[in-house]
Amino acid sequence: MMSVPLLDLTKQYFELKGESDALWLDAMEHASFVSGPRVKKFEKDVAEYVGVKHCISCGNGTDALFLIMEALGIKKDDEIITTPWTFFATIECITHLGAKPIMVDIEPGTFNIDPQAIEKAITPRTKAIVPVHIYGQMANMDEINNIAERHNLFVVEDACQAMGAEYKGSMAGSLSDAAAFSFFPTKNLGCAGDGGCITTDNDAIAERVRLIAGHGMPRKYVHTEFGVNSRLDALQAGLLSLRLTKLDEWNEQRKAAADYYDEQLSGVGDLVTPVVVKDRKHIYHLYILITENAPELQKHLGEQGIGSALYYPIAIHEQDCFNRLEGFVKPSLPVAEYCANKTIALPCFPGITIPQQDEVITAVKAFFV
Ligand SMILES: *Cc1c(COP(=O)(O)O)cnc(C)c1O
Repeated sequence: MMSVPLLDLTKQYFELKGESDALWLDAMEHASFVSGPRVKKFEKDVAEYVGVKHCISCGNGTDALFLIMEALGIKKDDEIITTPWTFFATIECITHLGAKPIMVDIEPGTFNIDPQAIEKAITPRTKAIVPVHIYGQMANMDEINNIAERHNLFVVEDACQAMGAEYKGSMAGSLSDAAAFSFFPTKNLGCAGDGGCITTDNDAIAERVRLIAGHGMPRKYVHTEFGVNSRLDALQAGLLSLRLTKLDEWNEQRKAAADYYDEQLSGVGDLVTPVVVKDRKHIYHLYILITENAPELQKHLGEQGIGSALYYPIAIHEQDCFNRLEGFVKPSLPVAEYCANKTIALPCFPGITIPQQDEVITAVKAFFV
């Protein structure tokens, strides 16, 4: 029996070992760590890849979301419509500004925010819609942007799980006022620590994001706003530029692995394989199955040495922290509540081999006999 980790990041390193080691040594020898040409180049690389005018790098994906909200002028008591089926950071950046996260239900197949539910939640206080391209498949951007246009709202993509994903041929990060990306090591494009960026076509938003990320300081020691310090290290930027050249290939490898699981696992027990909408390119940040027995399956796989994870064991609107949020009324979101503890991620990463996948498949099938 061979153990299979949920994620093996070492392959990404060894594939570019020569170049990335050289980068490290060069940065050390020149003591060049913050800003500079590597950061500029990476921002240009991402803007080109995503197909937008601007990319502004920052410290992490959470900061990216926060910087966008600040730049858009989101403030106390504004309402932001978003999804409960996400990583917590999407919601946190809203509450930290004193704004109200209005979570609405998700679509059962894609786990993405349900556009019909958005429309019903709009009030005179609504300022923005924040769809999250969950697991690597984009939300229904045409419908979301139509609603936003009709009601004069901002749209902010949380694209932290979706670098390289597409909607009707457009890249994640190019279909909203501004988008947030994370380069946390486990993301499809990951660095060797924390990192993030914002993409936008809007000159004013780009300028404000850059200003706020850099202490509100347009020129040295001139401060026109109260900002923060959020930046991407030069080393991370260099590594990310290298890895970006491999991203499409790596995403293809994830897709091939996902297709093989689909083929081998559909019809096994009560498993539901991922639903991919025709006009989307799913990049399988996570390969997610639905089963009534997800926690038990996870335990069984663990005993066989196979990594898996429950994304997510609890929908965000049911988290304890909301008890402390003044005026929060817990919504009833049946689809998200149903999905809690029923979604399990299987090992799916660039470089996973067929024998490794067969090991996973055999163990999953054994659970259901
Ligand atoms: C990872 C993630 C974030 C936060 O990114 P960090 O770089 O960890 O701060 C935000 N939203 C979603 C959907 C994520 O997956």
